[in-house]
Amino acid sequence: MHTTRTGIACALCLTPTTEVVYLVLSAQSPFPQREDVQDRWCPVGCRQLHPERWKEAMPLLPGDDA
Ligand SMILES: [Zn+2]
Repeated sequence: MHTTRTGIACALCLTPTTEVVYLVLSAQSPFPQREDVQDRWCPVGCRQLHPERWKEAMPLLPGDDA
């Protein structure tokens, strides 16, 4: 399932980012088996305003170029 949560702080302005996370759930455990961050953005708009600095400072996402 996908969920949205408050994620790590933005490296540029320190505002907590919003993350879209894919949770791999297990029938045996109440805790997710694995979680993959699919997308992440800063509510202030740093990703849009400073895409190069964002890419350098923040962890890569599946959609980013390596
Ligand atoms: Zn920011």
